[in-house]
This record gives sequence, C-alpha cells and structure tokens, in this order.
Amino acid sequence: MYDIVIIGAGPAGISAAIYGKSRGKKVLVLEKKQVGGLIGTVSTVTHYTAIVQEESGKTFAERMKEQALGAGVEIRYENVIEAKLTGETKKIFTDKEHYESKTLILANGGSGRMLGIPGENLKGVRLNAPKDGPDYKGKNVYVIGGADGAVKEALYLAGIAGKVTIVCVEDELACIQEFKDKVVTHGNIDIMPHSSLTAVYGNGRVEELEFTDNETGKKQIVKDGECGVFVYAGIVPNTQMYTELKLAGGYIPVDSSMQTEIPGVFAAGDICAKKVRQVATAVADGAIAGIQAAAMC
Ligand SMILES: Cc1cc2nc3c(=O)[nH]c(=O)nc-3n(C[C@H](O)[C@H](O)[C@H](O)COP(=O)(O)OP(=O)(O)OC[C@H]3O[C@@H](n4cnc5c(N)ncnc54)[C@H](O)[C@@H]3O)c2cc1C
Repeated sequence: MYDIVIIGAGPAGISAAIYGKSRGKKVLVLEKKQVGGLIGTVSTVTHYTAIVQEESGKTFAERMKEQALGAGVEIRYENVIEAKLTGETKKIFTDKEHYESKTLILANGGSGRMLGIPGENLKGVRLNAPKDGPDYKGKNVYVIGGADGAVKEALYLAGIAGKVTIVCVEDELACIQEFKDKVVTHGNIDIMPHSSLTAVYGNGRVEELEFTDNETGKKQIVKDGECGVFVYAGIVPNTQMYTELKLAGGYIPVDSSMQTEIPGVFAAGDICAKKVRQVATAVADGAIAGIQAAAMC
C-alpha cells in the first residue's frame, strides 16, 4: 500500500512526488513514456524561473529525473489503464501491475490534438522539432498552429530548415509578443493566416499538402515530397479513464488544495480546469497536491 500514487511524470507529477517524499511518505510515480512530459519533448524551455540559457526540453527533463531519483522517488514505467477513485483505498491498474494507495494525484497532462484529416498518419507528418528537425536541413517545413508552443518550435526550425511556413487559423499569430518580434527577424519564416491543413496525400510519405483558406474556402495544393509537417494544434486532456469525475470541458475541476470532488484524489498540472498551462503552474499545482496529499495520510 502506497501513501501517494502519482499518475504522470511531467513537471506536475515530479513536483508532487518530491514534496510528498519530503514528508516521509511512500510515493510511487507511474509514467507511460519518460520523465519530463510534454516539456521534455520541446526544443527550448522558455520563461520558467532559473532555467539555463537555451535550455532544451531534453536537458530540463534529465534534471527533473535526476532530482526525483536523488530524492528517493520510486518511478515505474507503466501505462495506467484504469483507476478506481472512490473508496478509502484507491486502486490503480496498469498494463503490467495493479497498485493500492491511500491518496492519488492525477498529473497525466494532455496529448497533442489530432487534426482529424486524411493522410495525418503518413510519414513526414506530426513530427517533433528537436528530434526530427535536423532531418529537414535546408528543406521546407510547415508548422501547423499559431499559439506559443507552435511559434516557439517554428523559431527553432528556422535555424535548420530552408523555409518555415506557419499555418494558423487566426488572422495573425496567436502567440506572445516576444515570439512575434522574433519571427520578423527570421527571413525564412512565412505565415499563412486564416488557413488550415485539410489533407495530406502521398504514397507512404507526404507528397502533397492541401491547405484551405478559412475565409474564402479556396483550396490550394502544394506538391513537396521532401517537406516535413510539425503539428502543434493544442492539447487534449488525458481524462478519458476518469469516468467517476465530473469534468469541465474535459478538464478536472479542483479546489485550492488541488483536491477533486472525490476525497483523497488530487489533480495537478495541465489536466486541471484552469486558465494558465505552463511549467510554472504545473510545478505549483504539483507542490500543493503533494503537500496536501501527504497531510491526509
Ligand atoms: C510545443 C509546446 C511548447 C511548450 N513550451 C513551454 C515553455 O517553453 N515553457 C513553459 O513553461 N511551458 C511550455 N509548454 C507547456 C508545458 O509543456 C506544460 O504546461 C507542462 O508540460 C504541463 O505539465 P504536466 O506535468 O501537467 O503534464 P505533461 O507535461 O503533459 O506530463 C504528463 C505526463 O503523464 C504521462 N501520462 C499520460 N497518460 C498516462 C497514463 N495513462 N499512464 C502513465 N503516464 C501517463 C505522459 O507520458 C507525460 O509524461 C509548452 C507546451 C507545448 C505543447
């Protein structure tokens, strides 16, 4: 029996684990991929306090893991497939094992939104900037999305690719001013406003892209068998398995202690119903959840 089981080893989950462990509790983190979560997969981490210059998602995640293991946190790499939240003992089922815990912290964030268009699964689509970017040296790349994360990855890709086209549904980029200012300093970034990628065609690999102008409905086909498509079109909360909770727009409502409507069940980070989704807020949520969960057991 654990005191605290945490689902997800992103910034929220790791923060919760470190605080829970510091209170002398038996803590387990269950992670289906790797420590770091979403931020571990991005080119550069910006704005979080005390990051090093040009901090990459990879090095940031490595330090998170080092800190957690150094604090004695137990991390198991298992995919949680079911969680029974009601009752005094929380039951967690993974693809390998099942666990029991006095309290549970749901910190399993969100997943990249699928576009739901034909050809989305072709090779060359839904790429990851730091991992796949170097394969597109001097080539054309398309970044789908105009919010902060998308534009940040576009700026990184502009240092590698021949040309970067940011395809955004809005009339102009929907990102922070700092990134807008940086975009204009790059001669190889184009913006395709009020547009969507509506289909990808190819034989196994992307060969043609179909873009639709959302104002006029006009479609254009771009033939480019060497291009790469990087999709950053928002996230969808990973709440599908939490059928016992009432959700708000798919997210988990919590009180100021990060507790859900079910006693002993907390949530932290991007999975919560809230306004700002950043590393800073995920880490803060995790700290509160870890401390409050520890106080219950
Ligand atoms: C492109 C992009 C760039 C960004 N850049 C920045 C930035 O520079 N600065 C900043 O402050 N914020 C940035 N953000 C936001 C930041 O990444 C998130 O706010 C933060 O990662 C949220 O942390 P989290 O721990 O709540 O969730 P996540 O980071 O999403 O972590 C959730 C973890 O849970 C795991 N998981 C999911 N389901 C299961 C399951 N069933 N079983 C086990 N494990 C599971 C996942 O594998 C993942 O590791 C960016 C976001 C994006 C999309």
